[in-house]
Amino acid sequence: MGLVVQKYGGSSVADAEGIKRVAKRIVEAKKNGHQVVVVVSAMGDTTDELIDLAQQVSPIPAGREFDMLLTAGERISMALLAMAIKNLGHEAQSFTGSQAGVITDSVHNKARIIDVTPGRIRTALEEGNIAIVAGFQGVSHDKKDITTLGRGGSDTTAVALAAALEAEVCEIYTDVDGVFTADPRVVRKARKIDWISSEDMLELASSGSKVLLHRCVEYARRYNIPIHVRSSFSGLRGTWVSNEPQGDQKVEQALISGVAHDTSEAKITVVGVPDKPGEAAAIFRTVSDAEINIDMVVQNVSAASTGLTDISFTLPKADGHKAMESLTKAQPVIGFDSLRYDDQIAKISLVGAGMKTNPGVTASFFEALSNAGVNIELISTSEIRISVVTRADDVNEAVRAVHTAFGLDSDTDEAVVYGGTGR
Ligand code: ASP
Ligand code: MG
Repeated sequence: MGLVVQKYGGSSVADAEGIKRVAKRIVEAKKNGHQVVVVVSAMGDTTDELIDLAQQVSPIPAGREFDMLLTAGERISMALLAMAIKNLGHEAQSFTGSQAGVITDSVHNKARIIDVTPGRIRTALEEGNIAIVAGFQGVSHDKKDITTLGRGGSDTTAVALAAALEAEVCEIYTDVDGVFTADPRVVRKARKIDWISSEDMLELASSGSKVLLHRCVEYARRYNIPIHVRSSFSGLRGTWVSNEPQGDQKVEQALISGVAHDTSEAKITVVGVPDKPGEAAAIFRTVSDAEINIDMVVQNVSAASTGLTDISFTLPKADGHKAMESLTKAQPVIGFDSLRYDDQIAKISLVGAGMKTNPGVTASFFEALSNAGVNIELISTSEIRISVVTRADDVNEAVRAVHTAFGLDSDTDEAVVYGGTGR
């Protein structure tokens, strides 16, 4: 029996009952002969509450202090969890990210892990303890300041520790039974996926699927760590995510892995852009100088009579204001007519490595949307993904229509959502 890393999200440890339930599950793993390292998130919506609190005292809180504040959430849950385990008669010790050796760069609020030196965790395990580690945090390599990894960062902590400790698996416990063919909060007939390749999972994560973070899957792929996503409520076998299927996971690669949707983006249209070299470059240089990541881009053909064209692109809603400001400032130099901002959009994506070799997928996708009366505004594709932008109001219907059209609906049990808000 080897070493397992288990990660429990905020909804699994939302209250004292949750913490006691999770403690029992951890003790089970230990009793089965495993060495157990646990990564835990802040209880329930604690992180959101701390952010609200910070904003009440300062509209733009200083990064260093903001991180110091947010990491308190995980310190609460790690200590309580260790107490609950001890109460069951087993030895446990809790560690902050810094104590666990999670070394990051010094970018506050979205630090990247650059090294993991888990000496204290190894010692704790050798002494027979269950090691509990506060997720989502580390210490900067230069100034030794406390950092956080960005929202949802506990998953990344878990995978990074699993890699450093050469764990056999990284189990991510959440409030659904695994990765589904669509968000079970939207599609009740979504099906649980038994095994999915890291490649498809990465694409789902960057298309809005919230069950695993892109950065966490990327890390697991790089270090070849299998992830098992499962529910802390049901204990059922969940979804395995790995580079290659292992053991009894020799499932046939499905044509389509799933449908993801994203309502966190907005669309900016730059109207009346002179159709000459250098214009698109100037627009996107302006946006990138404001440190904004864009997603989809579409340029229309220019009307022959005017020689002007429109360029649309999507970006995170959270950056919308900043982008509009920067472009407005640059308008006299770039020389377009006007800007339009639209945050009532949704992106719907179909993901699956099988589409590489199946020519009909794009047509069927568009047919499903048209049969549902959904209008397509933008389109983008990769080798294993097709995405469209639609009206935000159409998103649920569009996701369901596409899910049905590709035969993904389950005919047995309906997907269960055990808790949490899915945010
Ligand atoms: N507590 C942090 C958050 O809510 C980290 C995590 O849950 O992974 O974003
Ligand atoms: Mg959380």
